[in-house]
Amino acid sequence: MIYKSTRNVNVNVTAAAAISQGLSSDGGLFVPENLPALSKEKLMEMCDMTYAQRAYEIFRLFLTDFTGDEIRHCVESAYNDKNFATDNIAEISHLLTGTYVLELWHGPTCAFKDMALQILPFLLTTSAKKTIDGKKISILVATSGDTGKAALEGFKNVDGTSITVFYPEDGVSKMQKRQMTTQEGNNVNVCAVVGNFDDCQNGVKAIFTDERMIEELKKANTVFSSANSINWGRLAPQIIYYVSSYVELVKDGELEFGDKLNVVVPTGNFGNILAAYYAKQMGVPIGKLICASNANNILTDFINTGIYDRNRPFYTTVSPSMDILISSNLERLLYHLTGEDDKLINEWFTALKQTGRYEVNDSVKAAIKDSFYAGCCNDEETKATIKEVFDSYSYLMDTHTAVAYKVYEDYKKATGDETKTLIASTANPYKFGFAVYDALGGECEGIDEFELIGKLEKLTNTACPKALADTKDKQVRFTGCVKPEEMSQVVLDFISKQ
Ligand SMILES: *Cc1c(COP(=O)(O)O)cnc(C)c1O
Repeated sequence: MIYKSTRNVNVNVTAAAAISQGLSSDGGLFVPENLPALSKEKLMEMCDMTYAQRAYEIFRLFLTDFTGDEIRHCVESAYNDKNFATDNIAEISHLLTGTYVLELWHGPTCAFKDMALQILPFLLTTSAKKTIDGKKISILVATSGDTGKAALEGFKNVDGTSITVFYPEDGVSKMQKRQMTTQEGNNVNVCAVVGNFDDCQNGVKAIFTDERMIEELKKANTVFSSANSINWGRLAPQIIYYVSSYVELVKDGELEFGDKLNVVVPTGNFGNILAAYYAKQMGVPIGKLICASNANNILTDFINTGIYDRNRPFYTTVSPSMDILISSNLERLLYHLTGEDDKLINEWFTALKQTGRYEVNDSVKAAIKDSFYAGCCNDEETKATIKEVFDSYSYLMDTHTAVAYKVYEDYKKATGDETKTLIASTANPYKFGFAVYDALGGECEGIDEFELIGKLEKLTNTACPKALADTKDKQVRFTGCVKPEEMSQVVLDFISKQ
């Protein structure tokens, strides 16, 4: 399997090169030259496999330059019951007949990012051995909260790597901040940025392509890589849980093979929903892909009109991991939908950079409408949904999952579509405890994040994951906060100490 750049189809690299580089030097994202097919026979065979075995089957199709033993080592090191609180790795909860919640947050940091970031360090170090042997890898991460912690946990103390995480100073929840600033490990660095997530992401992207930085890195025998979902090594693992969920629902008798399954995804950077799209293209009988946004509803507008326009206010919401105005992975979707037209992609993304806006052509508009439905909801609706679902089903959702649930309800009302549906649940509710407690009518005034845990547990008769409760007794190690233009200096200082 060869990987191309969305901005230059003449780029031809192996999976190992795509994963260790992260981003193509032309600024494009790496994409597989074609999507391997999963036959009915293969999918039925997977019914009796564990999550790690299913992952092995899928990675073999994408990572053709890895040996079987290497892939086995990666999947077994990541998807086991030491790292995840459930043997199934991802759990499917049955909310009501035909509506399933895919809980992707049973990993060590309680958000869906663990599904990919528990395996990425293994994929990356294996890739590095093949492509840049002997060099150290410096991981740079821009985070809206969850990726940062998941990446830190995945890469801590991994030989030959170091990691720097940038998060928006006021753009993450108290628990998210606590989780990151108390991170342990001897190769980790965490820094706040005055600005929002897009500032962090643009800062990181600029460092990647900055000649001076690359020069400095050479001297330190180090290369940059990314743990953001622009890295193929982040995206490929996310395909697995959509394949696995379908197979699991067939195994449980909830679906007959071939029955369509709609998928609803609370979306920010467009990585998670793109993975569902890939699973569909590979042959999993997925129906509509329902893209749910919060008040930062740029994707809702884009999917409905074909116009991407980031000239709009940025809102800080109760679902901060989706507070994004530039959804990087959309570039991959557009590359596929234009029939791999790198010229058009360059045109659109240059326009985005220069004017903050682009409009896709009619055939792409039609193709998007064919596969996707989009909707959004505000903070009030998000909170009302948390309460409604808890009161009706005694099921506690986090704010991001609630956005998905609300948009799904709107979708059903608008279309009458009763197809069985899988809702991606992307975080444990205790990660966003204040908003959840407030939604249920609790009084948040004057209590700290740890008093809150006890109150939410009592009110809902649920348990806070140990990993979150335990941050109480950990020491805060990182207190730095810089302006966007100072980010590169933070990276240089840290690398010089490694
Ligand atoms: C990252 C994240 C999202 C958005 O996922 P994308 O792949 O960026 O679209 C949604 N919910 C939570 C809790 C997240 O951490």
